[in-house]
Amino acid sequence: MPLPVAHGLIGAGIGALAPGKLTWQRTLLSMVVGGLIAAIPDIDLVVAWGMGGGVSAHGSYTHSILFAVGLGAAVALLMRPVTWRGAAVFIAAVLSHGLLDCLTKDEFGGAALFWPFSRVVWNLGLLANYEFFPNPARQSWREIALDALPFCLHELRVYGAFPVAVLIWRSRRQCAEMLSLLSRRLRPKPTNCEEQGGK
Ligand SMILES: [Zn+2]
Repeated sequence: MPLPVAHGLIGAGIGALAPGKLTWQRTLLSMVVGGLIAAIPDIDLVVAWGMGGGVSAHGSYTHSILFAVGLGAAVALLMRPVTWRGAAVFIAAVLSHGLLDCLTKDEFGGAALFWPFSRVVWNLGLLANYEFFPNPARQSWREIALDALPFCLHELRVYGAFPVAVLIWRSRRQCAEMLSLLSRRLRPKPTNCEEQGGK
């Protein structure tokens, strides 16, 4: 199953599309919030571990469309301005978790997207890179963290480009202005001889 790094990066990229003034502070806030809420659905695993359960609890109610709509809409109400686009962005950030889990391979991947109407865990089994199943009952947190490190670095490499690409796309007008300013500065200036010869 993907780790919070992958979910957080996808959520941060989606959060960058939130409405509002395109300032760094505003965009950063939306990205941090998008990243955090995209990682939240794995809380079902934490609850299961707390109750003595195992990793098989992963992909349950918190991975559903209903949970995404509830959490995303609540976050959109807290963020300003409150708009339909904001609601769509934050719902999409939460829902991205379940959809990404649906792409994972093997057991414990997938998501119960249509909970509570159906408990079927949807799993397309397309990604084979996430065979990481921590077991707090048998491993110390230090062992789990060490096992997770290469997966985190892998996810950083694979998913890190997504929020960067969205940021560039979102600020494409500013990027174009910066590039044109840069090209004007770098253009060679005419020498005095060329100016006099032109007269
Ligand atoms: Zn998950």
